[in-house]
Amino acid sequence: MKINKKISKIKLTLTTNCNLACNYCFVKKTNERTSFDVAKKSIDLLLNSPGNEKLLSLYGGEPLLMFSLIKQIVAYSQKLASKNKKKLTISICTNLTFINEEIKKFIKENSLKITISVVGIAKDHNKFRSFINGVGSHQKVIENIKEIFKILPAENIGISFVVLPELSSRLLDNIQYINNLEISNKNINFEIIQDYKEWDKNSIENFKNSYKKISQKLLRSISQKKKTTYFNIINWELEKKAISQKLGNSCPFEYLLEIYPSGDIAFSPFLLNKKNKKDFIIGNVKELKLKRYNNCQYIKNDKKCQKCQQIYFQKNKSFDNANKVKMYYDIISLATARIIQEKGKSEKSFKNYITEAKKRCF
Ligand code: SF4
Repeated sequence: MKINKKISKIKLTLTTNCNLACNYCFVKKTNERTSFDVAKKSIDLLLNSPGNEKLLSLYGGEPLLMFSLIKQIVAYSQKLASKNKKKLTISICTNLTFINEEIKKFIKENSLKITISVVGIAKDHNKFRSFINGVGSHQKVIENIKEIFKILPAENIGISFVVLPELSSRLLDNIQYINNLEISNKNINFEIIQDYKEWDKNSIENFKNSYKKISQKLLRSISQKKKTTYFNIINWELEKKAISQKLGNSCPFEYLLEIYPSGDIAFSPFLLNKKNKKDFIIGNVKELKLKRYNNCQYIKNDKKCQKCQQIYFQKNKSFDNANKVKMYYDIISLATARIIQEKGKSEKSFKNYITEAKKRCF
C-alpha cells in the first residue's frame, strides 16, 4: 500500500477500552479493538510513504491492554522499517497504572518510548484520573513512573500533562511537583484538552501566563546549568522545525494522521465525537480511498495546499477557544526554541541542551 505524500507520524488507536474512567476523556468506551490486519495496513501506510524518519505512536483507550497486539506490531514494523531502510521510533502513550516484568522487559529490549499521562499533585490527579471503581490512580502512577525510570533511559520517557481549563492556574504547581520527584531529566508534553469544558477568558490567560513563566524558568535553568526539563514541542522545533512548519503551511498527512480500530483515518481525535463525524473521516486504511486527498501532492506555495488544513477544520467551530490555547502554546514554544537556538551558537550549556533535546522527539 503506497501513498504519494510524506507521512512522518501516525497515531494508531489500539482500543477504545481503558481501565481508568477519566472524567474529561473524549474516547467513547465502545470496546473496539484494532485487528492485526488494520495495524499492518497502518504500518504499511507509514513505512511505505516518502520520508525516512517515522514515528508510530500507539494510543488508546489504554494501549497496554492490547499487549499481545503490541508485540505483533513491534515485530512487524521493525522488520518492515529495516527492509525499507526507514528510521522508526515506536512510542506508547499509557496511563501506566499496570506494568509487569514482561511488559517492562519488552519495552526495554525493543527500545520503545513511553509517554505517561498525568495531571500532577495527588488531589488534582485523583479528581480527574480515577479507576473505574472511583479510586484515584495517582499513587499507582507515581510508583510506576519511578519504576520505569529505573529501567529505561530518561530520553525514552515522556510525561504528558493533561491541561484542562480549571487546572490552568495550577500548571506551575503541577509541573513543579513532577520536577521534584527523584527521577532524572524529564521530557514534558502538554495535552490540551478541547472537548471537556469551555476555555473561558480567564483560563486562557492563566495558561498563557503560566506557560510564559515555565519558559522563562527553562531558559534560566539552562543558562545556570541546573538539572533541567525538556519540552516535547520545543524538542520537535529544534530537531524538525515542526512548529514553524505548522504555523506556516504544512501537509496534514505529515504529522496529523490518526487511525482508529475500524481503520478510519482522520486528522484530529476530538472530532470523532461530533454528529458530523463523517465529514472528518478522510478514508479507511482497508481500502485507502482518500476522498479529495487521493491524488494531491504537497507543494508549499500551492494555494490548495495552503488552505488544506483550514478547509478540513473549518467544519468545526466548537473548539475556537481551545484553539487559542493551542496557538499560545505554539507561539510561546516557538519563541523559546528560537532563543535556545540563538544562544546555542555561543553558549555551551544551550548547545548541549539542543543536542539532548533532539534525541527526545516522540
Ligand atoms: S492538498 Fe492538502 S493533503 Fe493534499 S498535498 Fe496539499 S496539503 Fe497535503
